[in-house]
Amino acid sequence: MKKALLFLVILCIANLSYAQRDFSKVEIKAEKITDNIYTLFGSGGNIGVFVGKEQVLMIDDQFAPLSEKIIAAIQEISDKPIHYLVNTHWHGDHTGGNENLAKHGATIVAHANVHKRMSEEQKRPFGRTTPAAPEIARPKITFSDELTFQMDDEQIMLIHVDNAHTDGDTWVYFVQSNVLHMGDTYFNGRFPYIDLGSGGSVTGVLAALNQALTLVDEETVIIPGHGKLSNRKELRAYRNMLGTLHERVRLAIEAEKSLEEIKAANLTEGYESYDGGFISADKIVDIIYTDLSRE
Ligand SMILES: [Zn+2]
Repeated sequence: MKKALLFLVILCIANLSYAQRDFSKVEIKAEKITDNIYTLFGSGGNIGVFVGKEQVLMIDDQFAPLSEKIIAAIQEISDKPIHYLVNTHWHGDHTGGNENLAKHGATIVAHANVHKRMSEEQKRPFGRTTPAAPEIARPKITFSDELTFQMDDEQIMLIHVDNAHTDGDTWVYFVQSNVLHMGDTYFNGRFPYIDLGSGGSVTGVLAALNQALTLVDEETVIIPGHGKLSNRKELRAYRNMLGTLHERVRLAIEAEKSLEEIKAANLTEGYESYDGGFISADKIVDIIYTDLSRE
């Protein structure tokens, strides 16, 4: 009983701190990748910006309180209207600004499952829920496998990868510029969060990472969902890390170890540098264990 109460108190504090999070100190920093592709770092998922001759296409929009600063940062780069907003998946740190951007004139584009999840209340870990997004904040154009924008001389491919971080993940690949935004299928340098409750799976992420490694070359600039800009070499190391952890946990389950024993066995050994982000070593082992146990 005491334990349950303590858990509840921790939960309330966690919710409170999220609701009262102070975004006023967050700075939006732009990093130029090519003459017309930028990434914006702030708080939440990394934003991609493509500056066309007549219009701007952006990828993800972090949290609602940051919209004004994000729009200002884009206007520093281009005076053209933000015509399209692509959501890489439904999570609030990537879609929180949708309503503001739609009011600003952007048409939201995403995988069909993003529309589905944003139209219904979503159950979140620790008993939390996310209410359905208002109609204006939901994607207006959806697709199931692929969708391509032809903008100026650039082909901008939206590629869906199945059941990876969620069930509605999209990569955005700028073919001529050789830049790939991978959304949250890639947390550069950190253990990943994989949303099993939203149709995500560890094997799905591994399959996506293998697919990405065949798509990119040594020159490709990769925009991860979180973390610094990246490249094929780092992506390969990340795939190897997740593949190794998956195999270690699988073998431990096969040896009939309990989750407690598995957590005590330091299965993340050698990958300490990936610890310290949103997902701890314990948490990634937990996610892989939970995923493998339900298969
Ligand atoms: Zn996410």
